[in-house]
Amino acid sequence: MPDRIITCRVLSGRGNQCTGEAVDPNADLKICARHLAEAQRLVHEAFQRARRQESS
Ligand SMILES: [Zn+2]
Repeated sequence: MPDRIITCRVLSGRGNQCTGEAVDPNADLKICARHLAEAQRLVHEAFQRARRQESS
């Protein structure tokens, strides 16, 4: 049993740290599932923006 839970490192808009549990405590990126999904959404949007700029 792990002696402690690794929590998500993401800060909210007001500077409060997220209390979610990190998906992978051993990974360099300590992030909860909710914020991981949010990050994937941001990456997806950034790719779409980049593609739009290429075509213009
Ligand atoms: Zn989080």
